[in-house]
Amino acid sequence: MLIVMRRDAGEEQVETVISALEAKGYQARPIPGGDRVSIAVLFNKEPVDPAWAQELPGVKETIPVTRPFKLVSRETKPEDTVVTVGGTRIGDRGMAIIAGPCAIEDEDRAMRIAEQVSAAGAHLFRGGAFKPRTSPYSFQGLGEGGLKILEKVRETFGMPVVTEVMDLECFDMVEAYADIVQIGTRNMQNFSLLRRAGQSGRPVLLKRGMSATVEEWLMAAEYIMAEGNPDVILCERGVRTFVRHSRNTLDFSAVPVVQRESHLPIIVDPSHAAGYRDQVMPLARAAAAVSAHGVMVEVHNEPEKAQSDGVQSLYPHQFETLCRQMRAIYDIVQH
Ligand code: PEP
Ligand code: MN
Repeated sequence: MLIVMRRDAGEEQVETVISALEAKGYQARPIPGGDRVSIAVLFNKEPVDPAWAQELPGVKETIPVTRPFKLVSRETKPEDTVVTVGGTRIGDRGMAIIAGPCAIEDEDRAMRIAEQVSAAGAHLFRGGAFKPRTSPYSFQGLGEGGLKILEKVRETFGMPVVTEVMDLECFDMVEAYADIVQIGTRNMQNFSLLRRAGQSGRPVLLKRGMSATVEEWLMAAEYIMAEGNPDVILCERGVRTFVRHSRNTLDFSAVPVVQRESHLPIIVDPSHAAGYRDQVMPLARAAAAVSAHGVMVEVHNEPEKAQSDGVQSLYPHQFETLCRQMRAIYDIVQH
C-alpha cells in the first residue's frame, strides 16, 4: 500500500505514521515527491487495512499497490526518476549516450577511444575491467588495473565511467572507481549482488537477464531499491531466442512496457543484442525512435584487434554518424 500524505503534513506527522506502521510489524519507506511525501508499506504479509491507515494523522489517501514490485512501480511514484551522473541526467528529456570498448585493454587504447567517443557526443564512457566470459581461457579483463585506467579517462575527459561488477568480492573496489556500477545479464538474479548494490551510494545499471521476463527484471530492480538505493537504470540488451542471425533478439516492446510500469529510466544496448556490427546502427536508431532514455554502444578504434566483442564494435567514425542520427530521430519523436 501507498500512503499519500497531505501537502501540509509536517515531518512530525510523517514520523507518527511511520511509527504506527512499524508498530504493526511493517516496514515504512518515505518517498519524497514533487510537493508531498508518500509512504510505501513494505513486507506486509496481508493487506493493510485502508480504514485504519486513513485515520493516521496527515494522511490524504491510501492507494493499493497491485503490482508485485512496489518501490519500482509507477503506482508508488508517478513521476519519472532522473539519475544524475556528472552533468548528465538519465531519465529526463534527451538521450544519454554511453560508449566505449567492451573491455579496457590498455591505457593508450582506452584514452584514444575515450577521446573519439567524447568528441562524437558520448556523455559517459563504458569499459569492463572484470569481464564475464563464456570461456575461462578468454581475456578476463585487467581487474583493478582497468579501473585505474577508467579513473584516468574520467579525469582527462570529464566523462563519468560505467563498469561492471561481477561478484561480491570485488564490489568495494569497483564502486570506489565507478560512477555507475553495472550488473550484467548473467547476474540479474544474483540476489546477494543485488542487495549489495542496493547498499551502494552509486547508481546501478541493471541489465536484463537474457531469459528474464520484464516482471522478473523489475523484481530484480526491486531488490536494489528495497535496500535503499533509488538510482537504478534498466538496460534492455536483448533476450535469447531461436534466431541465428543475431546474438540475441532486441525486445523493443520492453521499453514502452517498462516506461508504463515503472518510473525508472530505461536504456538500450544494441551491441550485445546484435552481436554483429552491421546491425548495431539500425538498432540504435530504433532505440531513439522508441524513446529510450539512452543507449550504450560498444566502440573500438581497431575492432579487428579487440580482445572481446570486436565483431560487434563500431568504428569511431560510425559512432559519430550514429550520434547525429540518434539525436535527430529522438528530436522528432519528442515533438
Ligand atoms: C557488457 O556490457 O560488457 C556485457 C558483458 O553485457 P551483458 O551483461 O549484457 O552481456
Ligand atoms: Mn561486450
